Amino acid sequence: MVREIDMYRELDMDPMLCQQIDRLKNDACLPTDELRQLLAVCDQPAVRAYLAEQARTVQKTIFGQTVYMRGLIEFTNYCQNDCHYCGIRKSNRNVSRYRLTNDEILDCCAAGHRKGFRTFVLQGGEDPFYTDERLLRLIKQIKQNWPDCALTLSVGEKPFSSYAAYRRAGADRYLLRHETADPGHYSALHPANLTAAKRQRCLADLKRLGYQTGCGFMVGSPGQTREHLLSDLLFMKRFQPEMAGIGPFLPHHDTPYKNQPAGSFELTLALISILRLLLPNLLLSATTALGTIHPEGREQGILAGANVVMPNLSPEPVRDQYCLYDNKLNSGAESGEGLSDLAGRLAGIGYKLVVARGDYMDHRSTAFCNPAGQPLTGKSGEHMPA
Ligand code: SF4
Repeated sequence: MVREIDMYRELDMDPMLCQQIDRLKNDACLPTDELRQLLAVCDQPAVRAYLAEQARTVQKTIFGQTVYMRGLIEFTNYCQNDCHYCGIRKSNRNVSRYRLTNDEILDCCAAGHRKGFRTFVLQGGEDPFYTDERLLRLIKQIKQNWPDCALTLSVGEKPFSSYAAYRRAGADRYLLRHETADPGHYSALHPANLTAAKRQRCLADLKRLGYQTGCGFMVGSPGQTREHLLSDLLFMKRFQPEMAGIGPFLPHHDTPYKNQPAGSFELTLALISILRLLLPNLLLSATTALGTIHPEGREQGILAGANVVMPNLSPEPVRDQYCLYDNKLNSGAESGEGLSDLAGRLAGIGYKLVVARGDYMDHRSTAFCNPAGQPLTGKSGEHMPA
């Protein structure tokens, strides 16, 4: 007890807040009001340090000091959408557009496999050129050539029938950021044809089809409030994603948000820690945006509770053209060829990159809670009231 009080003093933190964070760690949930209170102060240095310490304890208990790597292949930068924050939105005429051929994509996988990647992430804009027929051919080729690897798709909103066909063809996982759980905020960030309801319906479809499903959001996107972030955390707790990626908002000079300030590095780290505590088994990325906003962003993300990195395997000549925000990293430790640099950086903080598919494992019960913080005993998929 004496030791605990000393620690609170040292951290200059309200003991009640420490106890709240301890409960969040032990129960993987917190009453909504307490989560709101925590969000209000989570980026203060002492609170952030305590959150990170608790998040690392959970991370190490479940995953050891290992980090999974995913090979990212950005195979098309054409997109039919016009999200206000995105550098490759369709109305940006200054982008030099490209599509990789099937052979180029397979070459990326082959090179990645030789380096030890056992997950490939096929990511692209919503490009109508990639019909279901074309994508299915690609999925089958990748799964046939590398049966020991997981395949993650990140190609946006599709009808249920398309998601089902990709899954039958062998796709294992799907990344689709929910962007913001708040419908009004979602509408502010997107053109009128895109809605939070549709995005969340797609995510529910993916879950229903048995994909390991990933969602996520930007921290500090224009108009975002802490109340929006609370909605994001509650949404994720309800949805129970297997994967997640959150990164700071970074502006792109050819978008309507070119003059908006970047999101906070510190708040992003605090939210990574909170997510690790809320969803202990989550495969949680230290994102490229985190590495872009701070020279040690990736490492700090791992120390805050993340356990996944996603180096770029795309051919070098096209990497600069997949520019979602200004200065996006795509070389050195952020790339397939910089893997030894990345491994060295992670070793420097006591973590090890592993050669493994790194599938989601239900290591520990993640019971849902009601708003009073009492665990619900219901079946998987039962929803916590928002
Ligand atoms: S965020 Fe995705 S869907 Fe929106 S414009 Fe960019 S690539 Fe297209």
